[in-house]
Amino acid sequence: MTASGHSRRQTSSPSKSENVATEAKFGPRKGFDWNRLTWGRPDSVPSVLCSYCSAVIPEDDVPLIVSNAKGWTVRFCRKCMKEQWGFAE
Ligand SMILES: [Zn+2]
Repeated sequence: MTASGHSRRQTSSPSKSENVATEAKFGPRKGFDWNRLTWGRPDSVPSVLCSYCSAVIPEDDVPLIVSNAKGWTVRFCRKCMKEQWGFAE
């Protein structure tokens, strides 16, 4: 018997906390509230708003886009990338 559909991938990245119960390959910082996100349907036009703080993401900015197993996506503005995900500018 094999479990279908879902394979647990083992990554070799030295991440400190793997407690994020999502499909994201990497996790946001502590205190990040997944319930606050506005997920975009797979068949809808991507929003120009940050899914976390609802700030408008400038057209020439490259947002961080995270999708879940069902293909729903969220995107993060620069500020949230930095504050919630720890990205350096
Ligand atoms: Zn934001």
